[in-house]
Order: sequence, then structure tokens, then C-alpha cells
Amino acid sequence: MEPVESNTVGEMTPQEVAQASVSTPVSTPPARPERRKKPRIREIPPEPVPSPHLDDYKDIVGAAYIDEIRFLAEALKGKTVKMVNSTAVGGGVAEMLNQMVPLLNEVEVKTHWDVITGGNDFFEVTKAFHNALQGSDYHLTQQARDIFLMHNHLNSQRIQFNEDFIVIHDPQPPALVQSRDESRRWVWRCHIDLSNPNREVWEFLAPFIERYDAAIFSSQSFTRQLAIPQYLFYPCIDPLSEKNKELEAGSIQKVCDEFGIDRSRPIVTQVSRFDRAKDPVGVIQAFKQARKYVDCQLVLAGGGATDDPEGAAVLKEVRDATDDDPDIIILDLPPWCALEINALQRASTLIVQKSIREGFGLTVTEALWKAKPTIAGAVGGIPNQIIHKLTGMLVHSVDGCAYQMRYLLTHPDFAQQLGHNGREHVKENFLMTTNVRRWLLLFRILLSSQPK
Ligand code: UDP
Repeated sequence: MEPVESNTVGEMTPQEVAQASVSTPVSTPPARPERRKKPRIREIPPEPVPSPHLDDYKDIVGAAYIDEIRFLAEALKGKTVKMVNSTAVGGGVAEMLNQMVPLLNEVEVKTHWDVITGGNDFFEVTKAFHNALQGSDYHLTQQARDIFLMHNHLNSQRIQFNEDFIVIHDPQPPALVQSRDESRRWVWRCHIDLSNPNREVWEFLAPFIERYDAAIFSSQSFTRQLAIPQYLFYPCIDPLSEKNKELEAGSIQKVCDEFGIDRSRPIVTQVSRFDRAKDPVGVIQAFKQARKYVDCQLVLAGGGATDDPEGAAVLKEVRDATDDDPDIIILDLPPWCALEINALQRASTLIVQKSIREGFGLTVTEALWKAKPTIAGAVGGIPNQIIHKLTGMLVHSVDGCAYQMRYLLTHPDFAQQLGHNGREHVKENFLMTTNVRRWLLLFRILLSSQPK
């Protein structure tokens, strides 16, 4: 089936607006469950599951791909790697390291992961740097510089850097490079969007970054002009993790039952922290427009609102925007609900990620991996994942999002094709195995060149 034609990516053309306005709205409200069950949310974390082995990925990426990884690792056997970041739990970077470190060790690239320490003053400064590097207003004071340098220095005294490769993640610890020994290769892995950084903070950090052998970014659009080689590594998801593994139909149904979701009607879902950048209120507005024409329910599943004052305020705005509509289900989930998120994504008819600012957008990767037709804001790394009308639909507005919801819910064959293409795109580019292969290649390239 041909996709809709539009002259503005993801938005309605005048013909589409006309077509939309002559379609008959749903005249009587669809039958709804009398009273939805209050969601029952798991209160304690589940037992941790063991890490997968490389061979476990054969069924997904093929035996030849795994052989290729082992072949690349041959020349690196016995080499040592140290990864350093700023947190052991929470956040996408820690999740990725948790999955990648055991796989590198399995191919005998001995990889160790260290976490920097610091007081509240340090993490306040680095949080401000993190936001400023992604475009927030900020004035860099001498005190902030001193706190940053002191804690980087204290960490460089505490952590040994005797490995062949040192990989420093993100803008909290880059000044550790001051203690570099010239025989080791140092890489800076930047996970954030540096396309429009606060100038003061960037000019303060750039001289440290240029002491590395290479810098890695998550998207072409996130990079800076630097005097060192830069590489593109997309973030990745683990297809065998609790969040992404295949689930039996019964487990999906159980989660929907616990959350009071009616599986006999279409389900539109957005999974995201309650953050204005994810535009949850815009999703509700789009849903309300689309639901005038197509029967559906909306699930907004998020978390982090309880320990983040801004998150709590956004969650309140979201609840207010629902106007007690029983077809809008808001789930405030604790961080250990990976399996529940997996089930919700798999139960969905459509997935939305209507962000107005975004990093890479791993929720989009997760949705595409589950072969779900996905509608997402054309920001951050999302256009790397969603090729408009091929692997999903990109939108720029509430109206565009409403239109695409309506279109995909009424064109299931086209929606299914998008989902299928999306999964293939993730398989090629955004899986953990792709990432391991890229690291091995980079280590080999760095070994074959002189250290700085
Ligand atoms: N996520 C989660 N629980 C929630 C909301 C989000 O586990 O309540 C997960 C989501 O599945 C994804 C990650 O958190 O794996 C969010 O990553 P993304 O890059 O989409 O956005 P970020 O929150 O990092 O801005």
C-alpha cells in the first residue's frame, strides 16, 4: 500500500486536512469497560537475571555475525579495557555498560568498569554542564570550574589507568585524561547532543577532549569540530534483556490485565519519563483529536516522577489534561518495570514518542525492535531511526501526530509494513551485537595507530 503523500514531512497537506475534515467522526462513544481496574504495580524489584552469552544472540543476528565478532576479537585477546562513567545504575549508559562489559570479557578482551565518585557539589556542577552542553542557559563560574577539576583530580588519583584502552563516558569525567600515560589509548564516548552547546562550558571542556585519541558520538548531528578523529556509534538495545526479549502471549495479557488495559480495542502507547521534552500533554491532545474518528485507548507509561520535583509537576499536568477520560491510562512506574514496559510495548497497536527535544530516543529503538508502527517527533537521534514513511512516521506538531495516529489505525497493512521495516533497521544498526563489533573494530584501529 502506498503511504500518504505530504509535502511537509509528517504534517497534513491541504488535501489531507480537507480529507480529514470530511471523514465522519465516531458519532457515539465506543463501548468502554464500565470501570477500569486500578493498575496494580509491582512494588519490589524482581531478582536480577543472568547476563546472556554471545551464542545466545545467534538466533537473532545469525551465526555468521557472531563468528565475525569472535574473529575481530582474536587480535585483541588479552588486551585490557577500562570503561569509566558517573553512575552504576539508572540511565541508558549504565544499562548499556552492564550488557556490553560481560560480552567483551567473553571474547577475552578484559574489560573493567569503574564509576567516578564525588560529592553533591560535583554532581550539581556536572548536571548543570550536562544541561548547558545540550543548550540550556548557564554561566560558568570559577567555583564551578574548581569543583569540576578537583573531583576529576581526586578520581584520577583513586582510579588506576593501566589498561591498553581507557574509555571515558560523557562530560563528568573527561579531565581524567590529564593523568594519561602516553602508551595507552584514550577514547571519549559522548552520549549527549553537542550540536548547540553553551559556549563557555564547551570551551572549558574542549582542550581536555582534544587530548584523547578519538571521540565517539551517537549521531552525525551531535558532533563538534575537533582536532581528533571522531567516530559514529549509535546507541543500542539488548534484544535479550527483560525490556526487549520475546514474551509469551500470556505474559503480555497478564500485564494488560494488571494495568486495566482492554486488549479488544486499539492501544496507542508512549513510554517516557514525565518530562516536558517528551510532550506527554501533546500526546493526549493528539489522541483526543484522533479518537474522534477512530476508537482507541491511550497509555502513557513513565517513571521517575516521585524523586524528581519537575517530574511530579509534569505528571500532574498530564493527569489534569486527561479530564478523567477512562480511555487515557497513566502509569507511574518504578524503575524496575522493564518486563512490564516490554509487555506494554508489545500489546500496543501504535507507539508514539512525540518528543520536542530528545537524545537518541531509545524508546523508539525498543518500539521498532518490537515491529510496532511508530510515530515520533523529528528531533535528536529519532530521524536516524525513523526514516519517514519507511520505518515509521515523523511528526512536528500535535495535528501531525493526530493525523498519523488516525492514518495508521485505519491502514493496518501499511502500519504493519512500517513495523516490519523498523525491526530490520534496528537489527542492522542498533543492537548490542552491532555495538560490540564496533568497539572491537575501533580498538583494532587504535592499536594500529600511534597513541597521541
Ligand atoms: N524507561 C523506563 N521506565 C519508564 C520510562 C522509560 O524503563 O518509566 C526506559 C525506556 O524504556 C528507555 C529509557 O528508559 O529504555 C529511556 O531512554 P530514552 O533514550 O528514550 O530517553 P531518556 O529518558 O534517556 O531521555
